[in-house]
Amino acid sequence: MPYVIASPCVDVMDKSCTEECPVDCIYEGDRKLYINPKECIDCGACEPVCPVEAISQDRRVPDEEEAFIANNREFFESVLPGRDEPLGAPGGAHKLGPVGVDTPMVAEL
Ligand code: SF4
Ligand code: SF4
Repeated sequence: MPYVIASPCVDVMDKSCTEECPVDCIYEGDRKLYINPKECIDCGACEPVCPVEAISQDRRVPDEEEAFIANNREFFESVLPGRDEPLGAPGGAHKLGPVGVDTPMVAEL
């Protein structure tokens, strides 16, 4: 049951959450951050620090934000615009650096 970042993060991106994550699994797109469901250990440390309450456990995501459950996964499992292969599980967001693109769903918001 990984945690998920939903729409309130779009164009906010203050990144408080990335400093709390013990496994560094919160990755930076262009307009939003994304939690890697394969790397998240479900600790909950990121949720209370988000100033816009964008983060919640996947089973507690509000109905109107449900598309973001799949969307966080797609950021890692699909081939993002301008890339040749999926990100997969890079093993650390700070090491990887900003990815600089979003999923098509987020780019079109
Ligand atoms: S703390 Fe919230 S708004 Fe800031 S980057 Fe993380 S999810 Fe986005
Ligand atoms: S729940 Fe824990 S492991 Fe998952 S993204 Fe948040 S801080 Fe990182």
